[in-house]
Amino acid sequence: MNILGVESSCDETGVALVRAGPKQQIPELRAHALHSQIDMHQAYGGVVPELASRDHIRRVLPLTRQVLADAGAQLSDIDVVAFTQGPGLAGALLVGAGVACSLGAALGKPVVGVHHLEGHLLSPFLSKDPPQFPFVALLVSGGHTQLMRVDDVASYELLGETIDDAAGEAFDKSAKLMGLGYPGGPALARLAEFGDAKAFDLPRPLLHSGNLDFSFAGLKTAVRTQLMKLANVCEQDKANLAASTQEAIVELLVRKSLAALKETGLKRLVVAGGVGANARLREMLNAECAKRQVRVHYPELSLCTDNGAMIALAAAMRLQRGIAKTSTDHTFNVLPRWPLHAA
Ligand code: ATP
Ligand code: MG
Ligand code: FE
Repeated sequence: MNILGVESSCDETGVALVRAGPKQQIPELRAHALHSQIDMHQAYGGVVPELASRDHIRRVLPLTRQVLADAGAQLSDIDVVAFTQGPGLAGALLVGAGVACSLGAALGKPVVGVHHLEGHLLSPFLSKDPPQFPFVALLVSGGHTQLMRVDDVASYELLGETIDDAAGEAFDKSAKLMGLGYPGGPALARLAEFGDAKAFDLPRPLLHSGNLDFSFAGLKTAVRTQLMKLANVCEQDKANLAASTQEAIVELLVRKSLAALKETGLKRLVVAGGVGANARLREMLNAECAKRQVRVHYPELSLCTDNGAMIALAAAMRLQRGIAKTSTDHTFNVLPRWPLHAA
């Protein structure tokens, strides 16, 4: 069975073709193509929703043609069309949903709405070292920070989440304060390589809260305060502040993940979402998990941020289990706010 996946929830247009066999086999990625709108939004310091929607319209059909060509497939080879139904920007989601459902109607094939975070969560199954259920998932993206117990596809128990900003947002907002542009996460991480992580004493909110929740808003305020204290911010100060900020965010993510593993007794951790690309996070998690005989799995670096492959994969894994919410009448809606445990 061939599943075409379309992602358009935010500022990346992604399309992919995945082949799914029986449930015991991990679906195979045949081809995927991506267009990032980062250059377009950079001038505004963040995503402009209206511009995002318009650009998805321009990109989605050419990307679909490219994916089919790369896979050596025809439109008639598609058995199911999957699309990101939410959460995300309403206008952006509507583009992918509209195209996917029109394509499904034209081909006479069913469509499947996919939860964007389920896509992130399952993306490590496309890596060279795929996980096995059950596991603890650390979902760290631009809009979400959650710890979850995952027993199978669609079996999610929320263990803890951020009470304010997401981890990616903490990276992005701190980077913005330092004048590092958008999206700030990767830029801050690059600068941090040249800095001393102990130079600034930044807070670790909720580190000892006794639960698995996160808070990052205070960190951003502390970064602002430190910047104001420095009369002239030299390049070394900036690098030191970047390293100290990254260390605070990473330490919070690692400590809470370890606490979640302890609480659930599970020996497997899956990291997903854009912040999962962070090298310092991977380094600290790998070291701490090795000490505890815990196995850690990550998505391929190219599949950490938004992409179509994870959407086609999530649909495929649900179809394999007979639990995909398939629609054959091709009417559709989008769900800009949609908690994962309700999916
Ligand atoms: P959501 O999935 O919650 O809707 P999103 O789709 O915008 O949000 P992702 O695409 O998963 O989020 O990830 C983007 C985030 O990842 C941004 O906040 C970005 O700064 C961050 N990010 C990407 N690479 C790195 C890195 N190397 N270090 C730190 N943060 C990073
Ligand atoms: Mg993005
Ligand atoms: Fe995302």
